[in-house]
Amino acid sequence: VATPAVDPWRLSVTPAHFEEHLEVLKRRAPLLNIQELATDLRRGETPRRFLAVTFDDGYADNLYNARPLLKRHGVPATVFITSGWLDRTTPFWWDELQDLILLSESLPETLRLESAEGPWSYFAGPASAPVDTGRSLSRGWNASSGDAPTKRHAAYLAIHAFLSSQGPSECERGMKQLRAQIAPPPRAGEAGDSGRPMTAAEVADLARDGLVEIGAHGRTHARLVRLSAPDQRQEIVESRRHLEEIVHARVTSFAYPFGGAQDFTPETAAIVREEGFVAACATTRGAVRENADPWRLPRYHVVDSDGETLDRRISQWFAA
Ligand SMILES: [Zn+2]
Repeated sequence: VATPAVDPWRLSVTPAHFEEHLEVLKRRAPLLNIQELATDLRRGETPRRFLAVTFDDGYADNLYNARPLLKRHGVPATVFITSGWLDRTTPFWWDELQDLILLSESLPETLRLESAEGPWSYFAGPASAPVDTGRSLSRGWNASSGDAPTKRHAAYLAIHAFLSSQGPSECERGMKQLRAQIAPPPRAGEAGDSGRPMTAAEVADLARDGLVEIGAHGRTHARLVRLSAPDQRQEIVESRRHLEEIVHARVTSFAYPFGGAQDFTPETAAIVREEGFVAACATTRGAVRENADPWRLPRYHVVDSDGETLDRRISQWFAA
């Protein structure tokens, strides 16, 4: 819930739109958090229609922008937190990457990254678009569409795909290499202070009155499909342990990092189940039906729109 300078994955909703969304949600159906949803689902007691609001990653704007509005409207939500990013003062790598590539004054002709599989480089210039073009084109740009209006956008897509295919430490090393090659934009992270991960104290504050359920989202936001089973288990269990320590309560909901069908395996879902989670959310598109697998709950991605537009989408989702 924020207004970032660029939002290539359309992850943000402005606070004003979020408030419109809450008005619509309250009117449309009973609202549950994921833990309640999982319990009702098991007992076959879900209302005929229901809605659940979830947030992934653990941005500080969930506390500063979303929570006051959730509270005002009495809407519960579940926030899935990447525990290893708590208390860092830097943005999540994907946010820093978009600032560096899309908003920096200029890009070097070639960007070089070392990975475990060897050197990787991306030729961005010499026609790499001037920043003004990049900036205005980036404002409404949808990276999921896969098309790149300028070389800058193509560079962003290529590097994003490369880094998200790497393990957490390679990814961190890649970002370090990029920082050394690109001068950061003058106002990196225009989202301001709340475009960063929360601190542990902020998570405790978010969980304080029980309106917001805290769920786990892995330790490093690694694409679990890339890890061995023991490493996957460690990512999952460690994130829960850390969060339980912070909120002094059990953490029983999980969301797979990235969350697409290709980002985790049946083995991942089995680990989540064995470790005592009652539910896990994916990012596969769909509504939760009575016969849904609680360890693979589909979701609909809500983009920035007014309340009326969301209302129409909800009608389509309920009818699907
Ligand atoms: Zn995530």
